[in-house]
Amino acid sequence: MSIRRFAANYVFPVDEAPIKNGIVEVDEQGSILSVYAPSNPDALHSTEFHNGAIVPGFVNAHCHLELSHMHGRIAKGLGLTEFVRHIGQQRQAPAEQITQAIDNAIGQMHQTGTVAVADICNTTHTLRTKQQSDIAFRNLVEVFGIHADEAQKAYANALSTHKAFAAQFADTAIVPHAPYSVSDRLWQLLRPHLHGLTSIHLGECMAEYELIERQQGELYNRYNHIYTNYSVPTGGTPEKVIERNLPANCRPLLVHCTYTHPKTLHTLSQRFAQTTVVTCPESNLYLEGRLPNLPEWQRLQLHIAIGTDSLASASTLSMLHNINLILDAFSTLHFTEVLRWATLNGAVALGFDTYLGSITIGKRPGLCLIDHFDFTHLRPTAQSGVRKLM
Ligand SMILES: [Zn+2]
Repeated sequence: MSIRRFAANYVFPVDEAPIKNGIVEVDEQGSILSVYAPSNPDALHSTEFHNGAIVPGFVNAHCHLELSHMHGRIAKGLGLTEFVRHIGQQRQAPAEQITQAIDNAIGQMHQTGTVAVADICNTTHTLRTKQQSDIAFRNLVEVFGIHADEAQKAYANALSTHKAFAAQFADTAIVPHAPYSVSDRLWQLLRPHLHGLTSIHLGECMAEYELIERQQGELYNRYNHIYTNYSVPTGGTPEKVIERNLPANCRPLLVHCTYTHPKTLHTLSQRFAQTTVVTCPESNLYLEGRLPNLPEWQRLQLHIAIGTDSLASASTLSMLHNINLILDAFSTLHFTEVLRWATLNGAVALGFDTYLGSITIGKRPGLCLIDHFDFTHLRPTAQSGVRKLM
């Protein structure tokens, strides 16, 4: 068996404390054989020394790869309501353009060290590229249906998309878009599919609360204008809509939660077998110009993961970029914690933690090198890049 040894100024295994001048040994398949700080580094032959920090491959807990062709097309700071309207307009594009953009986006993910992704699918556009990729995917087929009359059609579309993905990928799920965008009738149709891994956008904008709680605001006004006999989903609050409709055996990814009260999030997360709160920092800043209170999420011991969201509302699908945004915004958070969100927590949420998420003996997590690392503050810098070592 041939063994490869990688050494760096720091190794962050994630499931244990960072190791200064650490070494990682892997076999030819990338399985971790050992992680340690050598007593005499000079004694080791065939060790690749790197300047920087070695971390496991990243797990992106929320993306929409099929929107990649919209990169740079939607202006910053529009707010979510306008953004959703633009997305609807731009979905129609030449197939070649959509596919090429998806190929490039998955290539970029690979280059920036991502090894697994929870990807929202409204179409089968991403299917072929995903099949050819080394990245592990959980495909979450999303339904969206504002009015009860749209429920049957939205459900039928989701079933056919689900069938295509499920034939190729384990744990493909049909998931609701958001508390404000799924009618009571559509929730009823979804019920048999709601167990295990699921996902829902929550509290991405204030208008969601205004719509469900008070039947007012820009989202409500838009839907009330478009649809006759429009009625908002039953529940009283976005969180109660989720409580009413998601059974306790679900493992939801609650995505964004920018405007959701952290304590409400804590209460909601107690209801399910496993709840992961997913933050997408760059997208939140791009659309709404604010971030959720992540230090409070941490204090409440929520299970936190990180997503990039799509290139329609982000400059890059690099997880390192999003880690840096979090560390720059919240000086009380440490890289070791945020790295766990970006790796192991995502792997646990997606059910990939038996082999991904941490540099642990027996796992095959992928190894990434972060360069231009700040060894004094133990964090990446604005100049840091990341590349796959293994
Ligand atoms: Zn999303």
